[in-house]
Amino acid sequence: MDFFPAWAKVNLGLEVREKRPDGYHNVRMVNQTVSLADRITIALRPKREGITLRITGAELPAGEQNLAYRAAELLQKRCGVRSGVQIELRKHIPVAAGLAGGSADAAAVLYGLNRLWGLNLKAAELMALALELGSDVPFALLGGTALAEGRGEVLTPLTPLLPCWFVLVHPRIEVSTAWAYAELDRCPPSARPDIPGLLAALAAGDLKGVAAHLGNSFQAVIEERYPCVAEAKRALLAEGALGACLTGSGPTVFGLFSEKIGAEKAAAALKGEMDTFVVRPVAEGAGVLPLEAVMEE
Ligand code: ATP
Repeated sequence: MDFFPAWAKVNLGLEVREKRPDGYHNVRMVNQTVSLADRITIALRPKREGITLRITGAELPAGEQNLAYRAAELLQKRCGVRSGVQIELRKHIPVAAGLAGGSADAAAVLYGLNRLWGLNLKAAELMALALELGSDVPFALLGGTALAEGRGEVLTPLTPLLPCWFVLVHPRIEVSTAWAYAELDRCPPSARPDIPGLLAALAAGDLKGVAAHLGNSFQAVIEERYPCVAEAKRALLAEGALGACLTGSGPTVFGLFSEKIGAEKAAAALKGEMDTFVVRPVAEGAGVLPLEAVMEE
């Protein structure tokens, strides 16, 4: 039995660009792995037992609709593996929240089974399989701070974010990413996030500059449909966040803080109607760091 963390991510910046002939949108995102993780344990089983997935902490399908299951099945088929596997998934990352929890689970299963089945797939081979599972799965394997372009799979590692703290605020609703893209196509936003400004602030190690350049193309359409998202952002700023922004297509909003004590105070003030998590940046992707070392600080 082996244990693998599946880290959530936030988008410090997310710019949706043009729609492509294949139906996807080109994006330009600045992604940051954070210390909120699902826990995945994997035990090898005889072939006749196939792939089994047990989930706690969320109501999710346990078969082929689940990205963790699909990751195991893809690896098994492509590599001709003659062994079964039992996967236990403990969800901590809110579902359909803009935190890419499903992608994180898929990446952790790919990474874990590559090791446990002794497949020795190289990083580029794992990345190609990851992209078949979803646009955010390659980043979940890489982790840290990175620019993600194309569908999200063209990755450029960036200068790691300075030590800081995030308060994630989840208003306990789910947002469909497909719906959010359709809304953007229907009424394109007038302003674009300043991704070059964000990249310059990151390169200069300027945390206040990063906070000033947080931005997300989905912010306006999501706030219009879900006023609680605008309320969460206002509340984070009122509680002293250096900056606050939507992640993914929402509904999670994060606030950036320089000190842990400020982040904890803000999280305590906002807790109640919304779920809050105090997390910090993580420098690596799926399976690389000992989870408890980061979670228990
Ligand atoms: P996305 O932008 O990819 O929708 P997200 O971060 O907003 O990502 P996820 O938590 O990854 O949201 O879930 C998106 C959808 O994927 C959910 O509706 C869920 O039913 C499905 N899903 C499949 N497998 C998983 C999984 N292991 N964990 C969470 N959701 C999963």
